[in-house]
Amino acid sequence: MEYLDLSPYDYLTFPLPMRTVGWLGRRYGVQGASTAPMTGAELEQFGAASRRLGSRTLGWHDCDFCGAFESNGEYRYYLPDGETYAAPMMILHYVEEHGYRPPRELRDGLQAAGQPQWDWRAERLHAVLLDQSEDLDFRCEAAVDLANWNDPRALDALRRAAHDEHLADSAGDEIGRSLAAFVDRGLARDLIAEDLHDMVRYGIDEASGQ
Ligand SMILES: [Zn+2]
Repeated sequence: MEYLDLSPYDYLTFPLPMRTVGWLGRRYGVQGASTAPMTGAELEQFGAASRRLGSRTLGWHDCDFCGAFESNGEYRYYLPDGETYAAPMMILHYVEEHGYRPPRELRDGLQAAGQPQWDWRAERLHAVLLDQSEDLDFRCEAAVDLANWNDPRALDALRRAAHDEHLADSAGDEIGRSLAAFVDRGLARDLIAEDLHDMVRYGIDEASGQ
């Protein structure tokens, strides 16, 4: 799938509107490559901002330029200004190997960004995660992305989700990875002792490198 950067994202249904970055292909080539490549410091910062993959179950994606391939999850970037960007996992390969330069809106936003404050996007993901009538894939993506908010409301929702047997059966590992982020932040140390679904425990252990 190929998009011009900053197009409305419509590859998968998602609980929030997003804009595309780094969905490169033959038609538009390596967008942004005519400007200076990213510096080492910029690459490092971009890599750090691209740490959690959502939608990890999509199979494989090939690079149109060199044939490299990798699994096809998505990075999502939640900027404090309310914009959300979605990129294929391959974006780091494009940046490192093909001189791709993400659009200024995203680069500037990431440089300015601290943690996003609780906002309508967080409210929406929170509601989706806890709504038992919602689609399970939707709820799983909400569990992944809610960890972007370092906020007790996000932690509370993830804890409740961890004890939702039906959801934990299919998305427990992602719930666990999100909970691990709160353990890292020192907000959920008591979680380690809690009686948790096996999948949730697996996700926590995997994110903690155990
Ligand atoms: Zn390539």
